[in-house]
Amino acid sequence: MEKNKKKKGSILFIISGPSGVGKSTLCDYLLSELPALKFSVSTTTRPIRGEEVDGVNYIFKDKEEFKNLVDQNEFLEWAIVHNNYYGTQKQMVNDFIDEGFDVVLEVDVQGGLAIQENDPRAVLIFVAPPKFSDLEQRLVGRGTDTDSVIKTRLNNAHGEMQSIKLYDYLIVNDSLEESKDLIRSIFTAERNKASRTLSDYIIR
Ligand code: 5GP
Repeated sequence: MEKNKKKKGSILFIISGPSGVGKSTLCDYLLSELPALKFSVSTTTRPIRGEEVDGVNYIFKDKEEFKNLVDQNEFLEWAIVHNNYYGTQKQMVNDFIDEGFDVVLEVDVQGGLAIQENDPRAVLIFVAPPKFSDLEQRLVGRGTDTDSVIKTRLNNAHGEMQSIKLYDYLIVNDSLEESKDLIRSIFTAERNKASRTLSDYIIR
């Protein structure tokens, strides 16, 4: 297993934002650029979408299986989002941390805030659209959701945007190239905070 032995103290990077804003594209970019970063694959009860692969994009479960995992206290956090259950399994995140990786989690604001409350390693990044009307266009354009799903997602987007003020960083995803640079800079700056690097530094 690939390890990152140099650094101490993994960071949990939480990426939230309304549906269709481009979170997955930014996550994929980060994962392709940063070998010391791993993606926390969430568990969900929502139907598989487009070209998604079970175990890669999500771990797909039915409601009963999901509730069993809740009863067994397997989740770091879980929430009902757009009428489906979504959750982050503790085991996956803890394994990555034990192996010395940073972890990126794509979760809604309920999940992001719940994780940060219990874990100071969490850095919260909100990705927002330049204009609210862009979201509908993007959701319709990706062609993977029914009209009623799109309506629910747009309604929920208003609520999610109210939580921006609780986040550490805001990226307005107007130009994808600029957003990539910005998110990468956030990762670099957080990774190099003195509080995180001091224990590895020997004064000569
Ligand atoms: P989608 O169905 O579009 O993949 O995701 C819908 C929403 O659920 C997004 O806001 C996404 O960030 C959120 N989500 C995905 N996984 C999790 C999770 O494990 N926990 C929580 N709380 N939200 C999640």
